[in-house]
Amino acid sequence: MRTLVDYFTLFVLLFIGTIFAKVISDILAMRRHYNALSTLDEYREDYPKCQTPRGIRCCECKSSSIWQRKLKQAGKAIFECRHCGTELYRR
Ligand SMILES: [Zn+2]
Repeated sequence: MRTLVDYFTLFVLLFIGTIFAKVISDILAMRRHYNALSTLDEYREDYPKCQTPRGIRCCECKSSSIWQRKLKQAGKAIFECRHCGTELYRR
């Protein structure tokens, strides 16, 4: 009986560890993805024609409809085109 409890405990610990590793992996992947995006200043430098008097527009489809996707970390967001879905820059 004790062996069965030991196996169950081992299974629960492995299960918790797997979930923990997946959560950490997802956080690190999201951080890498976020840091790979341009900042607004970099976006303006890379696509000067997408800076208009009325604001920023998408470099892919020229739409000026920009969607702000807020991240869980305070103040951080990814801006993407509402028309074509291209991720444009980060804040
Ligand atoms: Zn677009």
